[in-house]
Amino acid sequence: VFQTSDDLVEALLGAIEIDCYDLFGFSIVCNSAHISLDVARRVKAQSTNAVILAGGPYGTKISSEVLCAFPFIDGVAVGEGEKTIQAILSAHEEGTRCLRVPGVVTREGNNCATQIINDMDCLPFIGNNESYYEALDAVREIVPEGAATPLEATRGCPLKCSFCSTRQVWGASVRRKSARKLVDEMDRISARNGQTFFSLIGDNVGVPRAPFIRFCNEMAQLNERYTWGCSLKLDKLEKSHIPIMYEAGCRAIFVGLESASQATLDQVNKTASIRKELEMVQACIDFGMHVETSFIIGFPWETEEDIWDTYRLHCEMLQAGAFRSQVSLLSPIPGTQIVSDSKIIFDGLQSYLTDDGLRLSQGHLDWIEEFPDLFSHFGHYETPNMSRITLKALRDASSQFASIHATQRKKNPENSGNHGRALGATYPYGRKALETSAQG
Ligand code: SF4
Repeated sequence: VFQTSDDLVEALLGAIEIDCYDLFGFSIVCNSAHISLDVARRVKAQSTNAVILAGGPYGTKISSEVLCAFPFIDGVAVGEGEKTIQAILSAHEEGTRCLRVPGVVTREGNNCATQIINDMDCLPFIGNNESYYEALDAVREIVPEGAATPLEATRGCPLKCSFCSTRQVWGASVRRKSARKLVDEMDRISARNGQTFFSLIGDNVGVPRAPFIRFCNEMAQLNERYTWGCSLKLDKLEKSHIPIMYEAGCRAIFVGLESASQATLDQVNKTASIRKELEMVQACIDFGMHVETSFIIGFPWETEEDIWDTYRLHCEMLQAGAFRSQVSLLSPIPGTQIVSDSKIIFDGLQSYLTDDGLRLSQGHLDWIEEFPDLFSHFGHYETPNMSRITLKALRDASSQFASIHATQRKKNPENSGNHGRALGATYPYGRKALETSAQG
């Protein structure tokens, strides 16, 4: 367990044999971007001739800004990286300029032709990598309730929510692994560690509807022993689809309802009917699924009444039988459309997305001050119609309500079933996060 962001950087550096490599790639997500970038900076300082490549969701939307701010980054791989990495390695072996390949943005020129993987069945099996099992064991030890085994299932989302960055990375075209491929991967993982409950990773696994239902029907044919959870919008599905999903093994779903206000959903392009989503959430709960609902507060235009409504809906979901529910503060994710339109305040109040329980070191605080656009997720949106105190109070009250609900659920194992969280859990870095997860 680490205390500061520097502690984590030091530990990661200690695990890298810097002298053994001349090319380093960093897949970066925004909540740990300061950590990844600092490791990259220090690798470059120790090995000045090494090539440093950034990639992942963080770099994809703001590649030029990253190159401009951080001179130790030589190139940014945008979008999906599998083909790009192969091309870089081939060029590197041939001794040519390895970052001059499609999918990499460099200071010399923009070469950002994203390399999309159309056939996801061609992707290499993640279980071939020993560190996959090590990470699963580490999470399971600390967050037993979040013990779903993550397995990538789809990429892409056709929707255009203005606060979302994942769609911007994976694009609008939805691609999915076949049921046969997923069951084969589940077989191989289960043979290794005995796990039978999986979290199918994808931005919005249920869209478009027809291929999703086809996938469920195929899963029902092929899958005799595995159960799974996924993240999806429910308003484009019908109640008649729930038994089909259940037959396929689906037992847990994560639904980003986001807000009780239809006007807010419309304003962020969510294209969701809150009334239909709620109807479907209740139907899934009644059918015996573990349903997790998720809400966001802190949209710049929200009023106190809006966030009270969202808070009350979160409580109602738990009382109606949701397995879990959460209310997060809207995180200003760098590169998202909503960020460019709104003012961001840096006063210590931030989304759980960013709060990893580690105290920020002075160097990382300096970066946030110098590059507020690149680290906007450490702030929150200005909400002129509501005080910061109300925003924080309702966010914290939501967590406490969910925590009481989780304690009551544990006392009544009949309600727990043998499945866990639809999306599994991530590993908490810091002591505060560890204590929070221990309290449930
Ligand atoms: S539906 Fe989900 S994944 Fe798709 S754009 Fe909206 S928030 Fe992002």
